[in-house]
Amino acid sequence: MLRYRILLESMHGFLVILHLNSKSMIEDIFKKIISHAKEYGFIFQSSEIYDGLSAVYDYGQYGSELKNNIRSYWWRSMVQHHENIVGIDAAIFMHPTTWRASGHVDAFNDPLIDNKDSKKRYRADVLIEDYAEKQRQKAEKEIEKAKKRFGDDFDEKMYRETNPRVKGYLDKADEVVATMAKALAAEDLAAVKQLIEDLEIACPISGSRNWTDVRQFNLMFDTRMGSLSDGSDTIYLRPETAQGIFVNFLNVMKSGRMKVPFGIAQTGKAFRNEIVARQFIFRMREFEQMEMQFFVKPGTEMEWFKYWKEQRMNWHLKMGIPESKYRWHDHDKLAHYANAATDVEFDFPFGFKELEGIHSRTDFDLSAHQEHSGKKLQYFDPELNENYVPYVIETSIGLDRTFLAVFSHALQEEKLEDGSERTVLRLPKFLAPIKAAILPLVKKDGMPEMAKKIFDELKLDFMLQYDEKDAIGRRYRRQDAIGTPFCITVDNESLTDNSVTVRERDSMKQARIAIDQLRTYLFDQLKV
Ligand code: ATP
Repeated sequence: MLRYRILLESMHGFLVILHLNSKSMIEDIFKKIISHAKEYGFIFQSSEIYDGLSAVYDYGQYGSELKNNIRSYWWRSMVQHHENIVGIDAAIFMHPTTWRASGHVDAFNDPLIDNKDSKKRYRADVLIEDYAEKQRQKAEKEIEKAKKRFGDDFDEKMYRETNPRVKGYLDKADEVVATMAKALAAEDLAAVKQLIEDLEIACPISGSRNWTDVRQFNLMFDTRMGSLSDGSDTIYLRPETAQGIFVNFLNVMKSGRMKVPFGIAQTGKAFRNEIVARQFIFRMREFEQMEMQFFVKPGTEMEWFKYWKEQRMNWHLKMGIPESKYRWHDHDKLAHYANAATDVEFDFPFGFKELEGIHSRTDFDLSAHQEHSGKKLQYFDPELNENYVPYVIETSIGLDRTFLAVFSHALQEEKLEDGSERTVLRLPKFLAPIKAAILPLVKKDGMPEMAKKIFDELKLDFMLQYDEKDAIGRRYRRQDAIGTPFCITVDNESLTDNSVTVRERDSMKQARIAIDQLRTYLFDQLKV
């Protein structure tokens, strides 16, 4: 959540931070995040001049830099830092049988329901889950009240388990979710509708309970390709990047002489015809994934599952976002082929939601492709002197969701001691779109020439911006708003002492640095 902060810089240089959070503020904050992303060239609605395309977004000049930097941070940590992981770049279009083998043709569905009065479309499971969540919130409210009433003596665990009202709400939530899960597992869509009716769930727009039947909706986009050998010409836009890795398992293993355990990583676009696509870049119809499939010896998968959980959480925390913004959510109900699954959830402006999934998928995918293709997708283990289909641990994270996590956490409005305000994007420095701005104090006396010389020297190593327009204070604010960690100002003295003033974004502190030390200084400051 964007923290609205009132920063009061005391005489001693301490920052006093007041966090102001309330529900309506949270909504305003999310709107601010979206409008800041647009105003400063991070994210635009796709084809906006034609009123946009729902749940599709374009990344602007700073957004694409930030996105590239996040992608490359992921790639380096996966591929460069692991001698046994290699990266590939598979095509978006794949042979249609791929999606039959993976189960997407038959089962990549969401249950859909329409309200006849508002004509709005919903995911039936989400309506029911929202109902359950409301029950849980009612329970939490009761608990909060009791906490205040009983003070230090309050035993929350006991209260949860014994207070009839709280227990009633929590049991109801569990019961509703369990009934829905059972109906969905049995593909009994009439039972899902019955549940919506029994719970008297109304459309949030029309307020009516005039619902259509529930029907399954496949999330894959399809299109046509010239002609295929089996006579059909329907192909799909991939709904995940993982299958490009599975079908290349043999190619990579042979050509890279890989030995189990080894991994294959990939980043790229995926497409899902999401029924309800809201919440900005959290749920898009075209998005980017960063996935890694790690192939292991059967029986060792739980060790690797643990290893990858640790690795991935470290990756998140290295961005400097506090640990409290992340939590694990272990899946209660596992897919039939999985033997462990967990999500990394992030505290987005609208609450904790999935950011990354880590799954132990057994040999399901390779075996399915083996069966459908008739090709042996196995590894010969020289120690065991036998062939086997490796098990897989996958880590799967949305690039756009990571962008939203990083961006929303970084955006802050601050009131400074002198009464002025600033909007600052406190991005992790190594991810910032522009690493340093080179600013001549004034547009005369040789300062622009000197600043341009510094720009030309450093641009080979860093993404920079040269700016000579407006007063220096306004230029600083512009750079704060796009998250530039350093502003390098050439002033009168620079011409004689060959040093510059370097202002740091977060503290706004300024230091004098010799021009020939700038490169080393920046490299040092921008380390991960
Ligand atoms: P959700 O439950 O939120 O729909 P999912 O469980 O279907 O997500 P996966 O299939 O596990 O997601 O995909 C892996 C990752 O891809 C997710 O953790 C998320 O970060 C990202 N992702 C999935 N769907 C979308 C989407 N529509 N828009 C943006 N990112 C997405």
